[in-house]
Amino acid sequence: MLTFQIVFALLFGLALGSFLNVCISRLPRHRSIVRPASHCPSCRAPIATRDNIPLLSFILLRGRCRDCQKSIGWRYPFVELAVAALTVGSILFSGFDLEGVALTLFCSLLLALAACDAETMQLPDTLTLPLLGLGILYRAGDAFVGELHRGTAYAWHSALLLGLRAAISAAATALTLLILRWIYALIRHRQGLGLGDVKLAAAIATWLGARQMCVVFFLAIVAGALTALIALALRRRRPTSPEGPLAVPFGTFLALAGIYCVFLGQVTLRWYLSFFR
Ligand SMILES: [Zn+2]
Repeated sequence: MLTFQIVFALLFGLALGSFLNVCISRLPRHRSIVRPASHCPSCRAPIATRDNIPLLSFILLRGRCRDCQKSIGWRYPFVELAVAALTVGSILFSGFDLEGVALTLFCSLLLALAACDAETMQLPDTLTLPLLGLGILYRAGDAFVGELHRGTAYAWHSALLLGLRAAISAAATALTLLILRWIYALIRHRQGLGLGDVKLAAAIATWLGARQMCVVFFLAIVAGALTALIALALRRRRPTSPEGPLAVPFGTFLALAGIYCVFLGQVTLRWYLSFFR
């Protein structure tokens, strides 16, 4: 039974990853994800169904367009494989149930947002706002089902309370970041944090709660700072490097830290707090 569940999750994850690749390519550029149908970004030739099978087509075509032979790009197989791995991970972590589906959705949307920010420095509202809405719904639904299982008469009451708590976590996170953004702009006379980052952090807070958001921010800031240092060092080595401030896609690090905390946030927090006992 478990083998069937893993194979199903793997195939579903590959298909979901393929769909998210379309979202990553089109949503930051404000293009429809329905029309036109899949086509090569270089020669615009339509992609036939046989060339649109997740992962397999990339391998068979050796990463090149059948018509113009231009490289398809490693992001496509990477996202498909990563979403498949996250889907299997979510099912193994929480079970082949609604919670597993919710976790899969959460991690996949975060991965898509991480790729969007890394590629275009944009976090589309069409991905961050559904993530926020789903987070509140998930918290409320989870509390509702839990109370029903326990046989108490407080299912609606509990759902409302937990949904409200998730919304408050999102609002508190957004407000904290907006204040930090305002202070940074006041001191440096330029924006350091995009509004997309604020919405993304608020959405992650609905799923993970305020305590785990501290771990998310810590990991995102450390990983972002390390990447910036490495990028700056590499830029100085090249004589033809562009001048001006270095742009780091902070949303990518926030989203990846969010995925990490879904699986290992509690363990990390417990490990950290054990030093203060
Ligand atoms: Zn082509």
